[in-house]
Amino acid sequence: MNRSYKIGVIKGDGIGPEIVDEAIKVLDAVSVAQGFNLKYEELLLGGAAIDQTGVPLPEETIQGVKQCDAILFGAIGGPQWDNLERTLRPESGLLALRKEMGTFANLRPAMVYDELVNASSLKPSVIQGVDIMVVRELTGGLYFGQPRALEDDKAFNTMIYTREEVKRIAIVAFDIAMKRNKRLCSVDKSNVLEVSQFWREIVEEIAVDYPEVALSHMYVDNAAMQLIRDPKQFDVILTSNIFGDILSDAASMLSGSIGLLPSASTGKGVGLFEPIHGSAPDIAGQGIANPLATISSASMMLRYALNENEAADKIDEAIKKTLAEGYRTGDIGDYDATEIVTCSQMGDIVADYASR
Ligand code: NAD
Repeated sequence: MNRSYKIGVIKGDGIGPEIVDEAIKVLDAVSVAQGFNLKYEELLLGGAAIDQTGVPLPEETIQGVKQCDAILFGAIGGPQWDNLERTLRPESGLLALRKEMGTFANLRPAMVYDELVNASSLKPSVIQGVDIMVVRELTGGLYFGQPRALEDDKAFNTMIYTREEVKRIAIVAFDIAMKRNKRLCSVDKSNVLEVSQFWREIVEEIAVDYPEVALSHMYVDNAAMQLIRDPKQFDVILTSNIFGDILSDAASMLSGSIGLLPSASTGKGVGLFEPIHGSAPDIAGQGIANPLATISSASMMLRYALNENEAADKIDEAIKKTLAEGYRTGDIGDYDATEIVTCSQMGDIVADYASR
């Protein structure tokens, strides 16, 4: 066994520890079966970090991340930290960590499992076969732009992108489109915003290097509508931070539950792999959370950070088999279930299939 990797594990708050434990269970099973070794180092972030150190992103976490090959993350946040000043809240720790890691590209697949085609609020004919990858710019735009202020009689934020920021995210999206169905839709609001006009021009420039990719542009309001009307028209969607935040959540609902979908944040160095949902404080500690999004994030980690593609395939197949056999956590329990299982039982079943 000579392939060995160090994984930084950030369990976080709410259901974070429960779902990450299940992903580790599956990683352990698949790594033994595939002949590589994983070492884990736990790092603090968010509310758990505030409680133990007073800050949402401790320096030890920043340094620890740099020593790892990839980071597996659960979720952070909860009502007990909601009244803190904005910079001291759990979410600020996550935003700062992403910035620190230089993870400027957020990859959010939205796919519909055949077994759960009835879980979506849309008609099966509209969503069967949906397989979209949303590429969201993650470290620029409206969420980070300066100046920003909250004053007594006004408040403002700034949506700003540099040429380099647009170029590098466009390249990520075109590269992904080349590995998929070679269709890329760049989403902006260039009829109203100068920053979107700039975005569109740069995407057009990058497209010259990718003649095989069919590039289209769409306004974000139309994209929101088209995602619901006819999602199968999309292959890869490229968009800015705020538009991507909203569109990828809308896209995620095509699959029926946000407990199913993974995400990857990649960029210059170590990548961060996490479910798209939050810390679900309403169900934390009950053992009923759906761990599949986090297990799927672990699969993306193997594929995109560690190049362990066979192991990633094993996990993806194991998830499909688990769903095909009718095992469901409560959030998807209404759809063709043969057995409702706990978070931990779901982890056991996927780990068992993944190790075969
Ligand atoms: P949420 O995603 O945590 O929950 C929304 C709804 O989906 C809840 O009803 C929840 O029970 C359900 N849900 C979420 N994940 C589930 C899973 N794996 N299995 C079953 N059901 C699941 O969003 P929210 O309620 O808006 O936010 C709760 C907290 O999470 C807030 O503090 C928020 O700031 C934080 N948050 C963190 C992240 C992150 O860590 N990346 C992302 C979004 C929200």
